[in-house]
Amino acid sequence: MIVDLRSDTVTRPTPEMYAAMASAPLGDDVLGDEPTVKQLEELAAAKVGKESAMFVPSGTMGNQIAMAVHCDRGDAVLIEEEAHMVYYEVGGPGILANVVTWTLRSDKGVMDPADIESHVLKRSIHTPGTTLLCLENTHNRGGGTIVPLPMMEEYRGVADRHEMKIHLDGARVFNAAVGLGVDVREITKRVDSVNFCLSKGLRSPVGSVLCGSHGFIDEARIWRKRLGGGMRQAGILAACGIVSLNQMVDRLSEDHRRARALAQAISEIRGLTIDWERVQTNIVLVGTDSSASDWTQALHQEGVWCFPVAPNRFRLVLHADIDDEAIDRATAAFKRVASAHRS
Ligand SMILES: *Cc1c(COP(=O)(O)O)cnc(C)c1O
Repeated sequence: MIVDLRSDTVTRPTPEMYAAMASAPLGDDVLGDEPTVKQLEELAAAKVGKESAMFVPSGTMGNQIAMAVHCDRGDAVLIEEEAHMVYYEVGGPGILANVVTWTLRSDKGVMDPADIESHVLKRSIHTPGTTLLCLENTHNRGGGTIVPLPMMEEYRGVADRHEMKIHLDGARVFNAAVGLGVDVREITKRVDSVNFCLSKGLRSPVGSVLCGSHGFIDEARIWRKRLGGGMRQAGILAACGIVSLNQMVDRLSEDHRRARALAQAISEIRGLTIDWERVQTNIVLVGTDSSASDWTQALHQEGVWCFPVAPNRFRLVLHADIDDEAIDRATAAFKRVASAHRS
């Protein structure tokens, strides 16, 4: 059996989700009468402590809409240099919001507030105005790292001093909350808008939710329609999202536990290294002495699927379809590849 560690997006819907899909009351969400989508949106807004929410087909769409709503054309946006919104969203900020992105270095996904502050520009005849700070928590390319609460508080201070808004790419914000052992609102109360994924660790087949103030979501709905993201009987999908929010948040701690177990096993294999400071939630970045893609190809032959993310680094993502036995199978495969490597 395959051990699929490529991403937490690969999870299949649970039996509860299929049951919810079958019985969900449906309407036409573009015409504004989809009861199950409305229910999901109300639940999501309450969970993250925002006034309003909007179901979107993907996290990418939610993030790009947020940027387009918060910013005017030509505004400057401060964002971490490997953030999903600039690294994996195919140039969306330039094409959709028409903003200039100022990318900043970070320590494992955590930017320095002073560095942020020193890059804020005031709108003038010469310079764009910096109107938005984008955060990512947990940070994907950082290795599923958590941006600590005191840091979120500092970012809020910088943003308030300069009248900037904050958008949080919270694709895995529930992993951050569970990792910190706090209610997710402790994280989201510091930001103006947040997008989180239902389709990752929370196990839904499709979808994200963008949350913010009433005014923000009203404008976001116009952008979603413009981008072709209006979905009709979307309650079929939203029904799964409701199951996600009600039943799948607490179990994320199991993924975090298994990430540590897998990292421990891998740390004992020659030629591979683990940076323990980055093993905080459900992602494990593995450093390699030799080519990372040689490793991932050899692992593929052994039934373990994962992706290289740098010449000497590959990524493993834990999720609900990986149980303890799958961890054992993966560990055995790692050992076989390592011994083949040496001979
Ligand atoms: C997965 C992810 C997204 C959005 O992904 P979609 O595939 O578009 O749903 C956004 N940000 C981060 C950090 C992610 O990991």
